[in-house]
Amino acid sequence: MDEFDFISKIKPNRIFQENVKVAIGDDAAVYEPSVHKNQVVCVDSMVEGVHFLKTLSSPREIGYKSLAVNISDIAAMGANPIYYLVSIAIPSSWEEHELLEIFKGMQELAEMYQMDLLGGDTVSTADKLTITVTVIGEVEPNVLTLRSNARDGDIVFVTGNIGDSSAGLAVLLDQVAIEDKKNKNYLINRHKKPIPQVKVGRLIAKLERASLNDISDGLASELHEIADASQLGIEINEIDLPVSSELLLLKNFNDINKWILFGGEDFELVGTTSIESWTELKQACDEQMIKITKIGLVTCSHSGVLLKRENQEVIKLEKSGYNHFNR
Ligand code: ADP
Ligand code: MG
Repeated sequence: MDEFDFISKIKPNRIFQENVKVAIGDDAAVYEPSVHKNQVVCVDSMVEGVHFLKTLSSPREIGYKSLAVNISDIAAMGANPIYYLVSIAIPSSWEEHELLEIFKGMQELAEMYQMDLLGGDTVSTADKLTITVTVIGEVEPNVLTLRSNARDGDIVFVTGNIGDSSAGLAVLLDQVAIEDKKNKNYLINRHKKPIPQVKVGRLIAKLERASLNDISDGLASELHEIADASQLGIEINEIDLPVSSELLLLKNFNDINKWILFGGEDFELVGTTSIESWTELKQACDEQMIKITKIGLVTCSHSGVLLKRENQEVIKLEKSGYNHFNR
């Protein structure tokens, strides 16, 4: 495979953002930052065998997810993603058409958000395929949706439904059998093609103050990060946790609570804000038909994260209790 030939094939044939001066093709990219905006940057790597398996995901799905997880981090800062860069280390076991599919998967998302591929690096490796994606976003300079922003009495909210992604992975790994093809595909798709919550992140950015995290490591873990960073406690109600009808059909599986509380990769947003701002946010989400749910409260009366069960029993949620949690 010729590296220059490959780069010419992955080069997008259009640029969305007018601030781009130089994209792929020179020593580095050049863009003019928007006036009165802060730049928001993050990077994440996905390693074959660790973050994905060639046997379970198509190259296109792998590409999609490698960009999606980064866009999700930008969304959790209340920002708009606009640029991305891709460094890829390729072993000889991958064919060119598969690599081009990886970039197609990213392009699918990039078109959704009008993001431009500004550059990257292409190297060969003797080991596993590794994709490192950098995303650059922009946000109004007064917006900082920090984990440390929670205050006593805040409402705790979460977007969309949680637990689907882990259930989808369990289905993919044949740990769970589902008869209904539609339900099965729904859960698998939630695992393979998570939708980063940029739109609702932008609504949250408009609030006077909010703490915000995206759910990559599981609800309990993200709540712990907010509670710890804010030096406060959080209590959530089991009965309020938003779960899809597809996941509810698996309620006889012992693992369903683990998926909801500790299963990661839903890439929904979880955060806290004042009661007044919550009313404002809920209304804005309702208008845009975005699902957002109040699940609990921030408190100064304890540290850590507590869960009130449906039977009113209150239990402590460990940061990552996946293996210790039983119904
Ligand atoms: P240099 O040798 O100057 O570092 P390269 O030959 O590595 O440049 O890259 C040439 C151009 O192709 C650069 O604009 C670079 O950003 C881009 N590029 C290389 N690999 C990738 C990739 N995997 N994804 C996107 N752009 C890439
Ligand atoms: Mg050069």
